[in-house]
Amino acid sequence: MAITGGCLCGKVRYEITGTLLGADHCHCSMCRRQHGAAFSTYAGFDPGDFFWISGEELVKVYEKTPAGGWCFCSDCGSTLAGTEKGKITSVTLGTVEGDPGIKPESHIFVGSKAHWYDISDDLPKFEERAPGNLKLFNK
Ligand SMILES: [Zn+2]
Ligand SMILES: [Zn+2]
Repeated sequence: MAITGGCLCGKVRYEITGTLLGADHCHCSMCRRQHGAAFSTYAGFDPGDFFWISGEELVKVYEKTPAGGWCFCSDCGSTLAGTEKGKITSVTLGTVEGDPGIKPESHIFVGSKAHWYDISDDLPKFEERAPGNLKLFNK
């Protein structure tokens, strides 16, 4: 069954027809600012598996670097997906409806995590990206 999700105002919705390939909590300074939170959680997929099913005209893409950016609803501001080199390659797990069938496997970019947040679970932590993990946010 396809994975679906959407933004806070409900105008933008997406569908992922394949399986999610892995998920991480990203603590990098860009994600922290972009989400206004201690970290953000993404799950990767094959870019060919992602489709906007409503509100695509409201989706704005912000690319901080040529390598990576975010797709968000221009009405309500929800961040829905991450891009790598112009392709949508990850979804923000917080916008998925129901059980995505996957749980975060690690904390990445812990080297730039917020001073005020202590990681208190036992997931692996990586200073930058997880070794061999090319599916998430190649910044
Ligand atoms: Zn919205
Ligand atoms: Zn990040």
